[in-house]
Amino acid sequence: MAIRRYQAAQGEGHRDVCLIPSSAHGTNPASAAMVQMKVVVVECDQNGNIDIADLRAKAEQHSDKLSAIMLTYPSTHGVFETSVREACKIVHDNGGQVYIDGANMNAQVGLTRPGDFGGDVSHLNLHKTFCIPHGGGGPGMGPIGVKAHLAPYVSNHVVTPINGVNADSGAVSAAAFGSASILPISWAYIKMMGARGLREATELAILNANYIAKRLEASFPILYRGQHGTVAHECIIDIRPLKAASGISEEDIAKRLMDYGFHAPTMSFPVPGTLMIEPTESESLYEIDRFCDAMIAIRDEIARVESGEWPLDNNPLVNAPHTQADLMDSDWQRPYDRQLAAFPTAAVQAAKYWPAVNRVDNVFGDRQLICSCPSIDEYRD
Ligand SMILES: *Cc1c(COP(=O)(O)O)cnc(C)c1O
Repeated sequence: MAIRRYQAAQGEGHRDVCLIPSSAHGTNPASAAMVQMKVVVVECDQNGNIDIADLRAKAEQHSDKLSAIMLTYPSTHGVFETSVREACKIVHDNGGQVYIDGANMNAQVGLTRPGDFGGDVSHLNLHKTFCIPHGGGGPGMGPIGVKAHLAPYVSNHVVTPINGVNADSGAVSAAAFGSASILPISWAYIKMMGARGLREATELAILNANYIAKRLEASFPILYRGQHGTVAHECIIDIRPLKAASGISEEDIAKRLMDYGFHAPTMSFPVPGTLMIEPTESESLYEIDRFCDAMIAIRDEIARVESGEWPLDNNPLVNAPHTQADLMDSDWQRPYDRQLAAFPTAAVQAAKYWPAVNRVDNVFGDRQLICSCPSIDEYRD
């Protein structure tokens, strides 16, 4: 909204095209659509970077109406795009503003700033990098930083007007400071970490992701890497070739991880058929090794399906997760033993998490809608 109001003040209120790379999170086109922008998708190259030639072509094609680009750095493909400055310049040269999606600040804090490489606006997802709880639909809180030229155009509030901001810029949230009660968490985190600690967290997040990429690369292809063969703060492992060769899917791996005591990493986002691993700075080397050991052991299990030792419809992967009821069943009809099912590694033997139920049918759940609100007539009766 600040970009739109700024452009309107320049007599450029007709600018309404928003460029969004195909690697973007769905919240980006959704946000652009909410301020009546038209989304134009920019392609990515085979390394996961924004295709600069396509960006240039689309920026020039829409030059008269270009309002903004929304880009994520490092990208959702888990790479630091070396052409990010050039991408920002192309958009500026064609009359647009640059919005940097701040979701991946975990790979930037203390090392760089969105404004340094060309951003005009950036938000901070406090639930990504700054420690507030994630998920459950809230409580959300996303401070937005803008460069000075946009400052007068950010949203104001009728009850608590902001100094220096146009009085007629409407609010985006009914509460003047949003979900302000959660801000002390981020404040305390920043205070306790200090400048050096925050920088170290960023460095460790990047190091941890690269450590995992290195340990897993012999077992699973790493989908995207940067120029020097490294990843940013997350790495995507590609399960599609394995699935084609063995019939075992990314979902089977995700479910089998429960038997090994893990909640699966992000599945099929941003690329279908993959797993995206984002360890952050918080996990110890012991925990990261335990995870890599599990993934490598799972790869060996897949090999036993590939070789025909276990049938595709009866193996520890497709039967995962295993419950206590499965193991206690006196009629155990499986080509692997109970120990492998529930205690596949020494780490699991020492500390076992028990899945309470077998695999749920996700798709069935999505398609069987239940209306939980009885009609008003039923109240009358
Ligand atoms: C998580 C994320 C967002 C914001 O999504 P939330 O629904 O607020 O969690 C936006 N962009 C990217 C790249 C993200 O990873």
